[in-house]
Amino acid sequence: MGRMQTALALIDIDAGTVTATHLESAQFPVEDLAIHRGEGIFETVLVTVDATGAALVHSRETHFTRFEQSAAMLDLPEPPRELFEEAVAAVIAAVIGTFDGNVTEFAVRYAMSRGLDSHADPAAHRTVGIPHGPRGWAFPIGLSDDQRAQRTRGVRVVTLNRGYDAYVGESAPWLLIGAKTLSYAVNQSAARHAVAQGADEALFVSNDGIVLEGPTSNLVIQRGDTLLTPDPRAGLLHGTTQRAVFAGAAASGLTVEYADLTIDDVVEADAAWLVSSVRTAVPVLEVDGKALPHAPASTSRLHEWIRAA
Ligand code: PLP
Repeated sequence: MGRMQTALALIDIDAGTVTATHLESAQFPVEDLAIHRGEGIFETVLVTVDATGAALVHSRETHFTRFEQSAAMLDLPEPPRELFEEAVAAVIAAVIGTFDGNVTEFAVRYAMSRGLDSHADPAAHRTVGIPHGPRGWAFPIGLSDDQRAQRTRGVRVVTLNRGYDAYVGESAPWLLIGAKTLSYAVNQSAARHAVAQGADEALFVSNDGIVLEGPTSNLVIQRGDTLLTPDPRAGLLHGTTQRAVFAGAAASGLTVEYADLTIDDVVEADAAWLVSSVRTAVPVLEVDGKALPHAPASTSRLHEWIRAA
């Protein structure tokens, strides 16, 4: 995405203020716990702009509700909705302004950290205008041509062990399974491992053989007139896009099911997709070198359901 004017919005939670600033010149205090502990939460929303210039944040409510749930799981304060809405709106206005209306689709990421580490000197930070307590921020992310092309071209995935048994989160809440935290180093690493194996994407499988999710996406498979997805309680992030797909599918008369799926279930499916807010739905062409059927008409329907959410 090209140069952005004032496309970063910073939120001082305790002061209740939103400040628009320049993405390129922004400074983030290195003693913030988000930076060296990954102690924070985030959401990434898809924004589309129609011919009249009106912007739509897709699945806005579902994203914010999940943000609140993530905050609760990390014992963070409740994120003030009006400040985050104001920040996201400021970023959207900045993007539309920068492109003079010539933009149809981009993403906005918003996040919240716990604030400064206890080692930090709050008074010293205050003198340079940096809040001590929790902070939020929002900024835009552009989509690459390749990301858009994947929506119809599809991806090859390899399965990788997530390293825990399915449903472990129910007895080990400190693992924060199902929270969307800023600790994504493992997810990023898995994506690199997949690429190193000649694939495009990873698909996590639990230690006991239950298919979970991609590093930044959920899996949806089709079996006849039924769409299935792994049960979020098994140990994955409950996706807003997967929920949009299920809502659209159910309204169209298909059956939808949360289920424990094995790798064989995926390989034997009539079609499979990785779904997430920015990629929308991407067909899975291959799992561990085994080809899956390609279903372009079904893919188009998923895209429609996601656009409608
Ligand atoms: N699973 C993980 C680990 C993710 O990071 C994401 C999104 O980035 C998803 C699933 C899909 O979630 P959503 O559809 O809400 O974007």
